[in-house]
Amino acid sequence: MRTKLNLAVLPGDGIGVEVTREAVRVLSTVADVHGYDFQFRTELVGGAAIRETGYPLPQPTLEACLSSDAVLLGAVGGPEFDALPPDRKPESGLLALRRELGAFANLRPASSHRAIEDCSPLRPEVVRGADILVVRELLGGLYFGEPRGFTAEGSAGFNTMRYSTDEVERIARIAFEQARARRQKVTSVDKANVLETSQLWRKVVTRVAREFPGVALDHMYVDACAMHLVSNPSRFDVILTENLFGDILSDESAAIGGSLGMLASASVGGRVGLFEPVHGSAPDIAGRGIANPLGAIATAALLLRYAAEMEREARDVEEAIGDVLNRGFRTADLVRDPRTRAATTEEMGVAVAEALTGICERRHAFHAV
Ligand code: NAD
Repeated sequence: MRTKLNLAVLPGDGIGVEVTREAVRVLSTVADVHGYDFQFRTELVGGAAIRETGYPLPQPTLEACLSSDAVLLGAVGGPEFDALPPDRKPESGLLALRRELGAFANLRPASSHRAIEDCSPLRPEVVRGADILVVRELLGGLYFGEPRGFTAEGSAGFNTMRYSTDEVERIARIAFEQARARRQKVTSVDKANVLETSQLWRKVVTRVAREFPGVALDHMYVDACAMHLVSNPSRFDVILTENLFGDILSDESAAIGGSLGMLASASVGGRVGLFEPVHGSAPDIAGRGIANPLGAIATAALLLRYAAEMEREARDVEEAIGDVLNRGFRTADLVRDPRTRAATTEEMGVAVAEALTGICERRHAFHAV
């Protein structure tokens, strides 16, 4: 456990700024309650960085990230940058940062909170009890495979899906380690009936599974997985998959949580971990103080779990989120009953921080008697 943390905080654009403020509030509460030393260093990224410096990932930001214990990021992007070429857009700063940090494993939990089951587009009895961790390979596959491009006359485009044994092994180990700390089950998702990369993937994952005798492994085709995710999500524990399939399946699994604003992610395995909520900068609601900060706060919990090895503190934050939802706090995206007054971003953040303080104080009191 690391009780002294240097954190690079990159709020970015739009609601990234608003929700990151609440995530930092909750991390500060953890530090205050336990007497830990968390230092926050805020830097520019994305559109905010382009406005100030002309670059989406300025050198001081990258240096601050590389010398930190973990990076907490909000979101990047916005309509005013839409006309820029792809390599100068805010999103290119995030992609460059992910590459520089070398994080090859993207972990995306998706679970259903009983109190907001009715927010899911899926029926409550379908999502009830669902608790999934998607482990997505982040640095290989179609996104990075060479050759790629267009034919000389531009009438065709092509990409290469490529995986090496080493790349599959390292992401598989992460998935099995995660499953060991959860419900001991890995579902490896591929398209081995069609793709050679998937045949290699399946062979290597089966071999790695032998290192984890307590963890059950099954294989599933990606099309079947897409179907089961919305018809019976509680059959899954850890889903292990490659980059493109993981991109799609992790977004699909978002339906379980009820709102994009609830979802957290961690990218680990590199020099420094990158922790960011799943959603974007939401220009349609930015600046109004109504964004849901729970995804960013749940991201802070992942940071505690994976960057600081603070499992108990991470669970406390997750319990505090459940607590405020059970007490009826809802940001606008979670309001189903028009008589419910929506909480602002700040009110939600403060409520979680207070619930967290209460949880920690009750534990201290319990241990004191
Ligand atoms: P988005 O995630 O920003 O928004 C999609 C919808 O979900 C919007 O209606 C938005 O209001 C809502 N929403 C998202 N987060 C919410 C929250 N926390 N609380 C309440 N409602 C929330 O996706 P988009 O509209 O496709 O993209 C907007 C911009 O964000 C684009 O520039 C895009 O490139 C960028 N983007 C960035 C990231 C990232 O930084 N990781 C991810 C996705 C999109």
